[in-house]
Amino acid sequence: MNRETSAQIPCRKCLLSEISDEALYQQVRRLIEAIPEEERCSEEEYRRRLDCCRACDRLLSGMCRACGCYAELRAARLKAACPDFPKKW
Ligand code: SF4
Repeated sequence: MNRETSAQIPCRKCLLSEISDEALYQQVRRLIEAIPEEERCSEEEYRRRLDCCRACDRLLSGMCRACGCYAELRAARLKAACPDFPKKW
């Protein structure tokens, strides 16, 4: 496989922020920013949750295969929980 071909294959173990689809990432960022402040988790907790997602086999190109949500969007909600069993965050 040459370098050009491999660059076209999406990263299966990346979050949206790490994938080159900027338009999709910006759309998800706008959805996160639309969550009322009091319903968003802290930045520290958000990072902790995303670290769990990065290490999770269910993450596929930014999407959680356990629930179909974008991991970054789900992780931003204070009352959300990981849908896996057992929960990872
Ligand atoms: S199962 Fe949980 S840890 Fe895994 S990607 Fe989904 S939300 Fe993240």
